Amino acid sequence: MSGTVVVVGSINVDVSVTVEALPRPGETLMAGSVRRSGGGKGANQAVAAARAGGACTLMVGCVGDDGDGADMRRSLTASGVDVRAVTTSLDEPTGTALITVDAAAENTIVVAAGANGVVRLDDVAREALAGADVVLAQLEIPQTVVLEAARARREGALLLLNAAPWAPLLPELLAEVDVLVVNEHEARGLTGHDDVDEAVETLLADVPAVLVTLGAAGSRLQRRGEDAVTVTTPRVTAVDTTGAGDTFCGVLGAALAAGEPERVALQRASAAASIAVERRGAQDAVPTADETTRRHD
Ligand code: ATP
Repeated sequence: MSGTVVVVGSINVDVSVTVEALPRPGETLMAGSVRRSGGGKGANQAVAAARAGGACTLMVGCVGDDGDGADMRRSLTASGVDVRAVTTSLDEPTGTALITVDAAAENTIVVAAGANGVVRLDDVAREALAGADVVLAQLEIPQTVVLEAARARREGALLLLNAAPWAPLLPELLAEVDVLVVNEHEARGLTGHDDVDEAVETLLADVPAVLVTLGAAGSRLQRRGEDAVTVTTPRVTAVDTTGAGDTFCGVLGAALAAGEPERVALQRASAAASIAVERRGAQDAVPTADETTRRHD
């Protein structure tokens, strides 16, 4: 392993139930099945980075002092994520996403942030950030904590901010960003522009580089004043796109931390994400390094 990627973000337990049709207000339904799995954009991206190999992956996050928290720690560790900077809140439960999926694969999702709302940087987190090559963050935890992490990173370490779910960004945080990673919806939301190219131009006034993921159309990295780098994604039959963006971000972070050239890192991220969309689930769908290499070469 060479290089370290520190992922700063949310850890959730996803509780998914399947029903024939989504319930109407006031209605009680019996579910066909119930499934608990690891979730949260932070944890998903950390799992993707760790499975990508090449770099050490450390997660900064917070879980509750409960069974779900212990389970999430265990499953992150099993994927190769260093959880020494995952703290435990005595007051808040582990973050939970309640997901209802109907027969047509339509869903509703309600998220209780729980311990994600009180995440903080402990000494282990600060030490890891001071030695990081890449810091990867999303917006399911308070922006003030992301900002603190950004400021604690080693001089020269890259900050990749995946602005998901999108929200107006603190100017101080924007000033720290090296690459802003967004999908088309987030690019529009952040800028109010329907046209993605216009949205990217607007974002480039605040950050030096914007990476837009475009689903089956791949992704495009645009640096201020330079030509765009466009990367295609393998053509596949998509079964479930949940977690495509998280797989993409995690693998990209690990590849950059391992010192891969930018275009190669983008291609590996695309290859891994294209495998993830062929499988159901979020963390369960993340491929191993070998699987990604076979798809990439
Ligand atoms: P999600 O929210 O569903 O996790 P996202 O909207 O954040 O994903 P997308 O732009 O949909 O992100 O996808 C991220 C990357 O995943 C794409 O850049 C691409 O490499 C890959 N990808 C997504 N959908 C497909 C697809 N149908 N076929 C091949 N690759 C895909």
